[in-house]
Amino acid sequence: MSSELGKLIELQKTDTNIRKLKKAIESAEQRRASIEQEFERHASSIREIQAKRDAAQTKRHDLEKQIAENKTYLARADRNLKGSQNQKEYETAMRETDALQKQISALETQVLERMSETEEVERVLAERSDEINSLEANREAALADFDKELAANRKEFEAVTARRHEVFITLPPQMASVYNRLAQRSRDGIAVAEVVGGSCSACFMKLRPQMQVELKTSDKIMTCESCTRILYIAPTAVAPESIAASQDT
Ligand SMILES: [Zn+2]
Repeated sequence: MSSELGKLIELQKTDTNIRKLKKAIESAEQRRASIEQEFERHASSIREIQAKRDAAQTKRHDLEKQIAENKTYLARADRNLKGSQNQKEYETAMRETDALQKQISALETQVLERMSETEEVERVLAERSDEINSLEANREAALADFDKELAANRKEFEAVTARRHEVFITLPPQMASVYNRLAQRSRDGIAVAEVVGGSCSACFMKLRPQMQVELKTSDKIMTCESCTRILYIAPTAVAPESIAASQDT
């Protein structure tokens, strides 16, 4: 492989990394917001359950107040009953006592319903107590991790951008302009494509056998006949079996 091709490959790898980092940095605000939204979704579902519990308790206190009031009326009706002077007064007081007792009993049933509702909600809250207690800490940790990663991305972006410039200026001007033209032309920014399985990895066109041979043997810069990207064959990695075999001997 020629040193120029080696530089082109390095440039391509650097540019691909720069694109990836740029995308991560540009989408950071949005990705951070969606982390916050996810935690807010949990927090709001917890607040909803807590509000349900509070509402049930308020309602229960209200019912108990009504019961107490009705009991006062019942005591008065009882006194009227005992002090009734005639049949008419007696019947009126009796009806009143009856009605109040029914009313109190109905209110007590409602109190029991509210109590079991509160119990059910408390049970759900107890089940989720770990989540509730750790939610804020988890949120802060997730955002801190995110910010740390973003800071690392920014730092790497600066470093690889500087590195790109260093490599780029060592290329012959004509090759540099070919590279730029190819990279700007395609949406993925790929100007230099690896040949994988006998095909161009950018456009997937199968290479003629003759071309594959030339690519392996010649130092010439060659381009894909279909997409015109600069092609290279990565040096084959040594197979693990042959390493083991050489260690045995
Ligand atoms: Zn191609």
